[in-house]
Amino acid sequence: MIKEQLHQVQEKVKAACIRAGRDPGEVTLVAVSKTKPVELLEEAYDEGIRDFGENKVQEILEKEAVMAKDIRWHMIGHLQRNKVRQVIDKAVLIHSVDSVRLARQIEEEAAKKDLCADILLEVNVAREASKYGFLPEEVEGAAREIGKFSHIHIRGLMTIAPFVENSEENRNVFQKLFQLCVDMKSKNIDNINMDILSMGMSGDYEVAIEEGATIVRVGTSIFGSR
Ligand SMILES: *Cc1c(COP(=O)(O)O)cnc(C)c1O
Repeated sequence: MIKEQLHQVQEKVKAACIRAGRDPGEVTLVAVSKTKPVELLEEAYDEGIRDFGENKVQEILEKEAVMAKDIRWHMIGHLQRNKVRQVIDKAVLIHSVDSVRLARQIEEEAAKKDLCADILLEVNVAREASKYGFLPEEVEGAAREIGKFSHIHIRGLMTIAPFVENSEENRNVFQKLFQLCVDMKSKNIDNINMDILSMGMSGDYEVAIEEGATIVRVGTSIFGSR
């Protein structure tokens, strides 16, 4: 089951890359395994998946403890400051940094463990009241603040696009995040890279790839509905 669905997603990722004239090697598929049991993750692992996305710290800790050590765990959900300590050395990338306060906490915990945390800034591109993330006009200021932290490395941007019936409706959201990424690059802010663009989920990852995503986060289309 997982195998067929996973392969279908991988084929669509590849096809979207080719349509966009991009090298499929540029796009990482993060299998979003939140709420799913370890047995299903193992099936994906056996098919070669090494990047898994979770939205709760507790779930990362539980799964990380029992699964293979070569898995790269991605923290994609809203992160509370009091949970940073637990996840800082478990997640390879925190996609969901949505405030300078959270970044400051990450800086403190990373310093204590003498590591450098890779993060993305979450951007609320569609300005939805229900969503976390910086508004587009706040990103530069936040990046300049967070860029001063010596135990954090900003690697790029992330967005959760609105829920829509037709994925085309989100094309302009992805275009806006891509453009913001280009603008940020051109500012050459210290300690900041903009090489990762995490956007696109089950409903719209093909459009996101056409618009420049380097990470897509796909759950339902691989593991089934939650
Ligand atoms: C759940 C989740 C996804 C995956 O959503 P699907 O629609 O199941 O593919 C992607 N990104 C984030 C931040 C999520 O919380």
